[in-house]
Amino acid sequence: MINILIRIKGLINSMKKHIIIKTQFTALHQWSLCNIKKVKFLKELHRHIFFVKIKFIVKENNRELEFFECKNLIDSFINNKLLKPHINPNSSVCASLGNMSCEDIAETILSFLQNKKLPVCYVSVFEDNENGAEVLIDDQ
Ligand SMILES: [Zn+2]
Repeated sequence: MINILIRIKGLINSMKKHIIIKTQFTALHQWSLCNIKKVKFLKELHRHIFFVKIKFIVKENNRELEFFECKNLIDSFINNKLLKPHINPNSSVCASLGNMSCEDIAETILSFLQNKKLPVCYVSVFEDNENGAEVLIDDQ
């Protein structure tokens, strides 16, 4: 019995715990330098829904980091710093990321959260919840 308890305690001690925040936003982006003929349409601004997932390391079980505060901080950064307004020929305004790729977006969000001294360890960004990129900090 004691051996089992020691094993369970060992498992708990080696356990890693994260909170996960997900968000999404709609924006235009482009790959101006694309030289792949079959996907040359990527040179032009095109629209995606970008799906973002962020993991933070926590040790406690009860809102060491509060979900809504984290989500509001991330959404505010995306809307106020990452996205730029773009006026299309129909005069409607869309958000634009310019030439930012999924890798660029993920790195930028990770750096922002690190600069805020938050224990972020993972950010993924997917275009239309299909193809995307992730950045993570080793040993987390
Ligand atoms: Zn795209």
